[in-house]
Amino acid sequence: MMVAVLMTVHRDEKPLGAPRESAGESEPPLARLADLTWTEVRGIRPERAVAILPVGAVEAHGPHLPLTTDVIIAEAMAREGASKLRRRGLEPVLLPALAYTPARFAVGFPGTVSLRPEALVAQIVDIARGLEGWGWRTLVVANAHFDPANLGALYQALDACAEAGLPRPVFPDVTRKPWALRLSDEFKSGACHAGRYEGSVVLAERPDLVHRRTMASLEPNPVSLSNAIRLGQQSFEEAGGPAAYFGYPSDATADEGRRTVMVLGEILDEAVAQALAIAG
Ligand SMILES: [Zn+2]
Repeated sequence: MMVAVLMTVHRDEKPLGAPRESAGESEPPLARLADLTWTEVRGIRPERAVAILPVGAVEAHGPHLPLTTDVIIAEAMAREGASKLRRRGLEPVLLPALAYTPARFAVGFPGTVSLRPEALVAQIVDIARGLEGWGWRTLVVANAHFDPANLGALYQALDACAEAGLPRPVFPDVTRKPWALRLSDEFKSGACHAGRYEGSVVLAERPDLVHRRTMASLEPNPVSLSNAIRLGQQSFEEAGGPAAYFGYPSDATADEGRRTVMVLGEILDEAVAQALAIAG
């Protein structure tokens, strides 16, 4: 179900539509729900509001990256997507991230917390219900955690929202076409956990959290987690990742991370534009 948007022009503002030129350095900061007052939320026009929910994990990411690597990536995707959506005349609002999610593949590693799938579904439905209560119609999921239990719960949550009579959240699943095609070769190979792809984004976003010497010393582990999942394997250990990393961590660069974040932002922006039928 697509989310309808009123095409009313407010005051002297431009209608919703194609992106405008960036306002550059003078852009005001993006709205973060956690930092707003309720009166500020009341001032956001519901028909233009786009709530963006980053979804990550508290999960082992090799001996070199922090447990909340996926939260860092999801928040970067949300931020980049939000700044693009704002140029379309929308009012994006960044929600606090969901950090605790199902993470079964990594439960054997200290630090990992794995939620039951139904706990994630319940949170997303209740968040969507909250937004509905404010008159907001558009919720977007910016997910950077690809454990099959998490992806399964996200799809269940979309269905549960629809069944509850709430707008179905927009969810650009970057593990699927067409979005996956825009991401790096390592990502597409399925060796997409704590390798070059994720390490690059953390280097770009939170370099202070990267254990660089350890990262540089890690041997490649080009095992495809997608294949492992197809084979019915259920943990990083079974899949051949005894240190909870896959791919080519020592090839990570901050430059690649910045490019990846830009692409993730474009994906989020385009997915929302398509859902609201304002692409162009
Ligand atoms: Zn990850």
